[in-house]
Amino acid sequence: MADWNTLEQELEQLKKEGRYRPLTVWESGSNAWMTLKGRSVLQMSSNNYLGLTNHPRMKKAAIQAIDKYGVGSGSVRTITGTLDIQHYFELELARFKGTEAALVFQSGFTANQGVLGSLLGAEDVVISDELNHASIIDGIRLTKAHRKVFAHKNMDQLEAALQASAGFKKRIVVTDGVFSMDGDIAPLPTIVELAEKYDAFVYVDDAHASGVLGKNGKGSTDHFGLHGRVHIQIGTLSKAIGAVGGYVACDQILKDYLIHKARPFLFSTSQVPAVTATCFAAIRVLQQSGDLIEKLWENATYFRSKVQALGFNTGMSETPIIPIIVGNPALTMKFSDLLLQEGVFAQGIVYPTVAMDKGRVRFIITAKHTREDLDFALNALHHAGRQLSLI
Ligand SMILES: *Cc1c(COP(=O)(O)O)cnc(C)c1O
Repeated sequence: MADWNTLEQELEQLKKEGRYRPLTVWESGSNAWMTLKGRSVLQMSSNNYLGLTNHPRMKKAAIQAIDKYGVGSGSVRTITGTLDIQHYFELELARFKGTEAALVFQSGFTANQGVLGSLLGAEDVVISDELNHASIIDGIRLTKAHRKVFAHKNMDQLEAALQASAGFKKRIVVTDGVFSMDGDIAPLPTIVELAEKYDAFVYVDDAHASGVLGKNGKGSTDHFGLHGRVHIQIGTLSKAIGAVGGYVACDQILKDYLIHKARPFLFSTSQVPAVTATCFAAIRVLQQSGDLIEKLWENATYFRSKVQALGFNTGMSETPIIPIIVGNPALTMKFSDLLLQEGVFAQGIVYPTVAMDKGRVRFIITAKHTREDLDFALNALHHAGRQLSLI
């Protein structure tokens, strides 16, 4: 008789290694302080960088869109058609990003599947940073393209890979803009220079840079002043933008191509209008309230320097993503559990998301954290870190 024995064994193994994680069930919405089992807990693992999930303008936009359009989009846009709000939102996104065009997907994950999956053929080569996000890796796996991986941010290895790639039809260099587990920034100016030297396309996934880096949160291309020199910018609407969705900002030819070829666009229902409306409002909020992004960076700089002063290792962090590197998976999870006892929620991240000896508790600082909140977390870190002899 069919049973799940082998799955159960794998789960048992995870428990033995301290890597088993039941889902945390919150009793309130995404915010700096949230309710867990009736208790108020400081949330420090959320991608809600600017607190936009609860922004009054965005909530109002969603409610108005439900009144006008209902709750669903009907189907895929190539079959049923595109709602005007979806059309205008893409024009707005392209304007915001400074590109000819933009195309929205259901998530950042499916944007990578759709773009990489349709762009890369057997005669092409993709050159990818070893720490790129899982959705990039999976997007590449969907294709027959030749793959080369360079050590994290190692520009000599990137150049060697480009040098050895002259025979391919297309060369595409792919990188995260901000690396999600380490919080460091890609060396985009050098990547662009090398790509130009060897006639390659540049593909940047700005999931953690959208709403965080660049003027008004326009992303890493804007941060480095590389407009017109990055061919493909992936963004997410699920993190700082506060809702859900993903997009590619690119030229019109690529957009037209993707509308005909990108499988998540062709075979999965489009974003619901309330979400489109709320993302539309978010772009307006970003353009009008630079103070949120300023506060975000001020908080991140303060927290990182204090964590380092306590004696913790924050790895390569240079953004509001601040990992505390612990090492062993079980110890990492223990540290995270102790912090929760102190009222601070910061998720332990272990193998296979990061290397076996690189387990970490990852903090994401937001604009909604007050100085008192950050000090509260630092105090908890001091206690828990001492208890486990990490500091
Ligand atoms: C989070 C993330 C994604 C996925 O975005 P979603 O909109 O949550 O699907 C893609 N790429 C990177 C680099 C990410 O960090």
